[in-house]
Amino acid sequence: MLPTPEVKQILKKNITIGTVRWDVSLSTLTTMRIGGPAWAVVQTDNVDEIRCVYDVVAQKDIPLFVLGGGSNVVFPDEGYPGIILKLPLGTISTQVRDKNRVAVTFGGGYLSQLAAQKTVDLGLTGFESMYGLPGTLGGAIVMNSKWPAGKFMTGDVLESVQYVQPDGSLKTMRHDELDFSYGHSSLQGKKGLVTQATFVFAQGDQQEGMKRCMEVMEYRKKTQPHGVKTAGCVFKNIGKSEQELHDLPYGSAGYLIDQVGLKGTSIGGLTVSSIHANFFINNGTATFADYQALVEKVRQTVYDKFSIMLTEEVYAVHH
Ligand SMILES: Cc1cc2nc3c(=O)[nH]c(=O)nc-3n(C[C@H](O)[C@H](O)[C@H](O)COP(=O)(O)OP(=O)(O)OC[C@H]3O[C@@H](n4cnc5c(N)ncnc54)[C@H](O)[C@@H]3O)c2cc1C
Repeated sequence: MLPTPEVKQILKKNITIGTVRWDVSLSTLTTMRIGGPAWAVVQTDNVDEIRCVYDVVAQKDIPLFVLGGGSNVVFPDEGYPGIILKLPLGTISTQVRDKNRVAVTFGGGYLSQLAAQKTVDLGLTGFESMYGLPGTLGGAIVMNSKWPAGKFMTGDVLESVQYVQPDGSLKTMRHDELDFSYGHSSLQGKKGLVTQATFVFAQGDQQEGMKRCMEVMEYRKKTQPHGVKTAGCVFKNIGKSEQELHDLPYGSAGYLIDQVGLKGTSIGGLTVSSIHANFFINNGTATFADYQALVEKVRQTVYDKFSIMLTEEVYAVHH
């Protein structure tokens, strides 16, 4: 159901600490820069206000989407006929656990790159691979975002999250409850909100940490297109067993797309990057239909050659 003037009144009256914006273009809130207007964008980390949003969408049957930095999602050109719930940057606090370990609690809207920088500044080690990762910690936890050149995944150093469930109840969820695996957490597909996250880091050397961050950034710049409109890797890599089954030297989706000769292929305003074949680049005119068509073309071409069906990592929002 489309939101009504009554819903507008409820939000205006109840969201006073956070902000409400109407008719906001989703292309401005996503790194792929595709997507029409959202009916409303509510930005708040006040738990009562968050509950008010969950209440109103439940009572009035309104679509709700929780958005972080928008670096892993693509929205339709028609936009989103509902409420986008976003967190502000939020705060950071520390708690010494023992002489070697410090817990750091961040707001769920904290930028991943800034979080990496802060932990290094605090003389802690464990988050350097997050340097240069677009988006927020909330998104990185839900996606269990990973360092492309190594073993690091966001969930590795996560201790717990504070999570507002769609029924408005607040829950602390510990690492074990989040079922982390490659590109996966149990929070995916749920409509709740990670409002805070606590990670545990070891004491480290600040200079070494900064050096490692610079190496991470260098690697990103060398292997990924930079400063372009993209949502990062469109497809998930295949698993080790599938790679072995097909006797392939690499299991990365980018390798498979490269092998079928699709680098540089365009549909409308969207092109398969010639630097990293798993990145699609928007030249500024791409539509959601271009995105869907290019996804299908790549998936089908890879399937025809390798009999491997790639699955999407980027979340294309349908409603
Ligand atoms: C240039 C570029 C490079 C990238 N490199 C990498 C990389 O190296 N490794 C990698 O894994 N990914 C990479 N990505 C993808 C993306 O940056 C990560 O997945 C990122 O962590 C997503 O965070 P986000 O805040 O932008 O999430 P969004 O895209 O906003 O959301 C992703 C999902 O998380 C949910 N979500 C977001 N915030 C919250 C919250 N607070 N509570 C509950 N649910 C939430 C959303 O509903 C959505 O389902 C890259 C993307 C780009 C554009």
